[in-house]
Amino acid sequence: MRKPMVAGNWKMNGNLESIRQLMDGLKAGVDSVESAEVVVCPPFIYVPKVVGMCDGTKIQAGAQNLCDQNSGAFTGEVSGEMIKDVGCQIVLVGHSERRSIYGETDEAVADKFAKAQELGLKPILCVGELLEERENNITEEVVGRQLDAVINKSGIQALANSVVAYEPVWAIGTGKTASPEQAQEVHAFIRSKIASLDAGIADGLQLLYGGSVKSGNATELFSQADIDGGLIGGASLDATEFLAICKAAK
Ligand code: PEP
Repeated sequence: MRKPMVAGNWKMNGNLESIRQLMDGLKAGVDSVESAEVVVCPPFIYVPKVVGMCDGTKIQAGAQNLCDQNSGAFTGEVSGEMIKDVGCQIVLVGHSERRSIYGETDEAVADKFAKAQELGLKPILCVGELLEERENNITEEVVGRQLDAVINKSGIQALANSVVAYEPVWAIGTGKTASPEQAQEVHAFIRSKIASLDAGIADGLQLLYGGSVKSGNATELFSQADIDGGLIGGASLDATEFLAICKAAK
């Protein structure tokens, strides 16, 4: 039985005061989340603070990105070692905003995934198609290519200690959610693709859906056979809303 996970991606939002309030709200309600692993991914500069706030709770803090190098002349970058050093064990890799705004290619994402794995961090690998790609019926080709880049570099075994998040780019931050059937179709594709290489890894893999998930649509999405929780952007900035989504993941 796969344990569900709900991860909040705060993106570049918040300040010390709003984060304190958000974490107070989450800490006050998180014990009523029965099944799901609860993760929050703050902007880098707040990660150590949030790690401290998570102490003694069942909330885990993660990072939103990492550098594929260990240290050195990489101004503005943050290494996986540093993420680990401040007490994080989880990191998002290949979020669509990293791919589209910062030009991260499938290969660059695969390098970051490999680095996270090498360091013992658990990567949440984000994959998903653009609207145009869906309209051209190449969703599976695109998602398959994004997965292959990682599998070709790190091997199928590397997926054993990772999470995959399917996030159709057209549904991120747009208020347009994939229908439960559309999401399930791609999740089933991802699981069967991985199963063709290793059935055990596919069976144990937590597959999250992301893209305008809210408390009002979470239950239906999470009830799909291959959806094991969610990666939540906007709605993770509201403690009541995020907790309601976490509770929907059973
Ligand atoms: C995300 O940032 O990964 C995301 C899914 O955002 P939203 O929930 O706001 O669509």
